[in-house]
Amino acid sequence: MEQTLAGRTALITGSTSGIGLGIATMLAAAGARVMLNGFGSPEDIAAARRAVAKAGNGPEPEHSAADLSDPAQLRAMCAEAEKALGQVDILVNNAGIQFTSPVEEFPDDKWNAIIAINLSANFHTIKALLPGMKARNWGRIVNIASIHGLVASPEKVAYVAAKHGVVGMTKTVALEIARSGVTCNAICPGFVRTPLAEKQVRPIAEKNGISEEAALADHLFAKQPSKRWVEVEEVARMALYVCGPDSGSINGAALSIDGGWAAA
Ligand code: NAD
Repeated sequence: MEQTLAGRTALITGSTSGIGLGIATMLAAAGARVMLNGFGSPEDIAAARRAVAKAGNGPEPEHSAADLSDPAQLRAMCAEAEKALGQVDILVNNAGIQFTSPVEEFPDDKWNAIIAINLSANFHTIKALLPGMKARNWGRIVNIASIHGLVASPEKVAYVAAKHGVVGMTKTVALEIARSGVTCNAICPGFVRTPLAEKQVRPIAEKNGISEEAALADHLFAKQPSKRWVEVEEVARMALYVCGPDSGSINGAALSIDGGWAAA
């Protein structure tokens, strides 16, 4: 892979699994020095660090175990990243969780957790790391939103509210930094083949007494016109482009990667 990010540094939240790990691997392969964050067993985290080191042909990356629902831990992670990497040129706000329920039964603690991790964490990391980017006249902020930042689905009130908030936050920050050399964009994937999305298949199959294949085809992919998963690597390639040297005029965008979902 072309080393388009040689000399750049990146902090990717929620990068021990799924889309975040895919993006960390892709940015490392393009030459960036990265720092990981996220939960997992020691074996899972060690495997993620090894995968990123292999892709980047370099040492194993630092990993922060900060819980992003806690602003104090989150700010400490940003400071730790600036210390470990020298500076943070690229911030990918990716960590996210999901919970589904009709609104009137939606547990308050799930609402609070989803808003904290999927929305407020992005605010806190941007607030902490943007000053350094502006001072250096270069930076890339990529918020992994969702198709649910653009359209709604039932039983996802907190997730849809948080992801619409992420798209709004992205636009506001983009306007504030439009002449600074820093950009802020959102990526809005449809269903991506990751643990978070695959976990939704079995409950739908069990609830409806159908196979997992039928649950995928008739329920999850009902809204995704391509009728297939978006792959992690497809999202990571989009993130790589947005973080790269040729994307300085892409700012404030909500970039769909959803097999046509948003077009319907
Ligand atoms: P995943 O469950 O595979 O990974 C989530 C990551 O976030 C993990 O590394 C996990 O440890 C981390 N995380 C969760 N809670 C955390 C916390 N409190 N503090 C720190 N880290 C935490 O999920 P994924 O599917 O890769 O999702 C990544 C992002 O992409 C999320 O924001 C999600 O909403 C978004 N997204 C996913 C899909 C999809 O279909 N998979 C579609 C659209 C958007």
